[in-house]
Amino acid sequence: MNVHDSEKIAGILEGMGYASCDSVENADIIVFNTCCIRETAEQKIYGHIGAVKNLKRKNPNLIAVVCGCMSQQEGVADKIKESYPYVDIVLGTANLNMLEQAIVSARKKKKYYNVDFMQYREEDFNQSRTSYPNAWVNINYGCNNFCTYCIVPYVRGREHSRPMQDILREVRQLLDDGYEEITLLGQNVNSYGHDLQEGETFAKLLHEIGKLEGKFRLRFMTSHPKDLSQDVIDAIAQHTNICDNIHLPVQSGSNEILRKMNRRYTREDYFALVDKIRSKLPSVGITTDIMVGFPEETEQDFEDTLDLVRRVKYSSAFCFVYSRRKGTPAYSMENQVPYAVKKERITRLLACQNEVTKEISQTMVGNCYEVLVEGANFRYQNTMCGRTESGRLVNFKCDDSYIGKFVTVLIERASSATLWGKIVKSED
Ligand code: SAH
Ligand code: SF4
Repeated sequence: MNVHDSEKIAGILEGMGYASCDSVENADIIVFNTCCIRETAEQKIYGHIGAVKNLKRKNPNLIAVVCGCMSQQEGVADKIKESYPYVDIVLGTANLNMLEQAIVSARKKKKYYNVDFMQYREEDFNQSRTSYPNAWVNINYGCNNFCTYCIVPYVRGREHSRPMQDILREVRQLLDDGYEEITLLGQNVNSYGHDLQEGETFAKLLHEIGKLEGKFRLRFMTSHPKDLSQDVIDAIAQHTNICDNIHLPVQSGSNEILRKMNRRYTREDYFALVDKIRSKLPSVGITTDIMVGFPEETEQDFEDTLDLVRRVKYSSAFCFVYSRRKGTPAYSMENQVPYAVKKERITRLLACQNEVTKEISQTMVGNCYEVLVEGANFRYQNTMCGRTESGRLVNFKCDDSYIGKFVTVLIERASSATLWGKIVKSED
């Protein structure tokens, strides 16, 4: 979501005649597009903002902007105003469209602080996309779920859906422009349309995009397990251009912890959902987010998570240490888990998922998969990478003229998460 917001920020700046530069010393404007999902993200940002003071001594016309989730948090805009007076502009998550006006004011040495919620329209400005062959497309904003650990509903506001016609127009344009992959974005894509007219659902949106002509891939994230309907699973099965890949964050394998997290499903519900998905989409790749060290998580709760990971067999998992976020209900829960225990658990969780990924990787060796070439793997010479339909990243030798092409890759070897192969067939 933030990467895509950065594309919007870059689009606005380019529209004003700015271009990106390689070093902060040469910049006329520095924009910090912040995240506050975990404490570490926030700490890093304050360090970077502090460095602006010196840069401004060298270049008094430098304009410093802080925007994104952190600046939307209660009290943060005031804190920046007081403690970091050299910041010229503070914007929130829903008023990015004010950036141009704010810069015009900052050029006249007038500071601009505004974190009002006034959801902008994507159509109001150009975007400077950086992720070809993929293009990110927002479909809904905000979140109404209030998981007890999560800051997102407070900094991204109430959930609301973008009109379907606007989304379809943008997707058609992107396909005309040559993008080969579209990724629909929302905190909970499955509840798309709940605030629109009857029948305007996520499944309908998938059908509408799935019907579009031409070869391309459609992905989406994120799916909340409580809202993933049979209609959505059927739409994925029906359209070959919708990837058999579902990001389905589970967070924990313990019913007690899931209840305290306010996730509104049990591990049994989750297993049943996974079975339902796999019975319709046998080669689906399921990925997830998992958290360790939520308040009161016992060793048994954690072992339930390990057990779930082994049973579901995720192709990959983003694993996090629970981070206390001020303003959320879990912040003030008793029995916060000590850091040493969290650290020990995350190490065990990562090792467990690693074993699962390795097992899946081994089954892929010797088979061929269609891969969309995404870009260079800079760690190796003349090596590109891309994803299988199920979402697994594969490395193979070829030059960058292949970027954006669909190729067939034979998987030759696998080292846990990394797959290596060779191109056996390429389009044109
Ligand atoms: N809307 C998505 C998640 C967005 S946040 C969903 O519900 O699935 C991405 C991930 O960050 C979450 O899935 C969760 O695993 C993690 N996360 C959120 N709040 C966190 C916190 N306070 N500490 C650690 N991880 C957190
Ligand atoms: Fe956060 Fe839960 Fe909303 Fe996801 S669904 S953004 S984890 S509150």
